[in-house]
Amino acid sequence: MDPPSPISNKQIAAIFYDVADLLDIKSVKFKPAAYRRAAHEIETLAEDIALTSERGKLEEIPGVGSNLAGKIREILETGRLAHLEKLKQEIPRGVLELSEIGGIGPKKALILTRELGITDREELDKAARAGKVRGLPGFGEKSEKNILQSIRALKSTGRRFLLGDILPAAEAIRKRLEMLPGIQVISLAGSIRRRKETIGDVDILAASKDPEKLITEFCLLPEIDRILGRGPTKSSIILTSGVQVDLRVVDKDQYWAALVYFTGSKDHNIALRRRALDRNWKLNEYGITSLSDGTMLKAQTEQDLYHMLDLQYIEPELREDRGEIEAAIKGTLPSIVPYGAVKGDLHVHSAWSDGKHSIRELAEGAKVLGYEYIAVCDHAWNPRIARGLDETAIVKQQKEIEQINRELEGFMVLAGIECNIDPDGNLDIGNKILGDLDVVVASVHSGLDMPKAAMTARVLTALHNEQVNILGHPTGRIIQQGEPAQMDFPVIWDAAVAQAVALEINAAPSRLDLSDTNCRIARGHGTRFSIGSDAKSVENLMFMELGVATARRGWLEAGDIINTVPLRDLLRLLES
Ligand SMILES: [Zn+2]
Repeated sequence: MDPPSPISNKQIAAIFYDVADLLDIKSVKFKPAAYRRAAHEIETLAEDIALTSERGKLEEIPGVGSNLAGKIREILETGRLAHLEKLKQEIPRGVLELSEIGGIGPKKALILTRELGITDREELDKAARAGKVRGLPGFGEKSEKNILQSIRALKSTGRRFLLGDILPAAEAIRKRLEMLPGIQVISLAGSIRRRKETIGDVDILAASKDPEKLITEFCLLPEIDRILGRGPTKSSIILTSGVQVDLRVVDKDQYWAALVYFTGSKDHNIALRRRALDRNWKLNEYGITSLSDGTMLKAQTEQDLYHMLDLQYIEPELREDRGEIEAAIKGTLPSIVPYGAVKGDLHVHSAWSDGKHSIRELAEGAKVLGYEYIAVCDHAWNPRIARGLDETAIVKQQKEIEQINRELEGFMVLAGIECNIDPDGNLDIGNKILGDLDVVVASVHSGLDMPKAAMTARVLTALHNEQVNILGHPTGRIIQQGEPAQMDFPVIWDAAVAQAVALEINAAPSRLDLSDTNCRIARGHGTRFSIGSDAKSVENLMFMELGVATARRGWLEAGDIINTVPLRDLLRLLES
């Protein structure tokens, strides 16, 4: 028989925290605080508590008297605590679940269960709707309303948010927490770290010398709408934007394994676990354990962990079980485009059309970002597009751009246009004018529901226009709102290669078009790409990061993207 697996300090602390929660529900005074204090001391104890016990020094742990020392010994010997089992039997099923709903503490949860027999969220929802809650002791109409609101918020967590709407707020929270004393390392995890185009909730993982302080500060964030749950090392909140943020705090030793585990994806993790098992190891959120002798193999970084499994390091954006493990085994993973590789933005709108800022303001904003160039691609005039530029305006705008370029040093504004591709594939500006411009983006803006054959012919005609450099937001999809147009995509990709037209990765949060998977497929055909923010303001220039994230998820390298090259090389590319 295997020797019983050693009980960690953390497991003992967890049992004590559970006891405290259950005692709270029973309205026992003072004892919950004593259990919590002891749990906290045990968690942060430098020594393995089994050793402390062997040395007979348990009662030297602050907050641990003879009673609690006995309970610790019981857990160490049997792996469980009879007192906790008994408490669990005394407390009706469902009380714990109810007590996690905002506005309901353990006490109220107990009343709901005793008086109305409610054991889960759905039953509570029904009772509150029927007005049965307001009459209970300690409840009123207002608390009934709050309960319904909390349940609605819990339900709405099924909703998905656009990456671009959530990422800046998530990063801001991470940065604020990073400043706290005791923080050793903190990172976004989950799908937001993988930069998926939509996000269900935000995961943050941290290692800290003072988890309690971290959780407290997390629950005091100004953008909080409500706290869903709060424990010693884990807490969940809902921001006023409606997005749920989960924070987990782990030991520094376990951090890297936990980061891989909580970054996912699930399928990627399953593949990693399988690979660990082939080596007779167990991989989980705590680390890698040898199955033959139970020793822990410590990873100092995420890279370490992948290397231990004889894999190339796999960037978070690639962890979707889309062949990255196989490529990492063979050493053939692409070196995906770094976030800082983009040297300019090839799709921005100025106040000449539907943008908010002048060309000069956009240029100055772009310089701050370290760019060498931007292409001002305002909309061409079209009966369907408000505030587009006609041929006279294009010539006037070019003069303004020339003037700005004379004044700016080490930076160039390229004169461009975003032409509309009409149903026949023609552009709304004549080729003579287009020939004088540096960059011509051609995009479909209407009639996206055309039959596949007609749409394919339409886009092919545009690709064959010698003046076109970039096919703008190629599929026309709007995330969660509009389906992509139907086209014979392989034919489009091949034509783009033959005509030397770059496919745009439009980085506007609701577009991200081409998508990650389409990028990867098109790259297989040999296409080149251009990342454009489609900015309507200086602030929107920041969308570029989302476009780069999409390119990374699409396995693109810097060399696949035309705006990673310096200005001189770009001009040569655009002329060819
Ligand atoms: Zn457009």
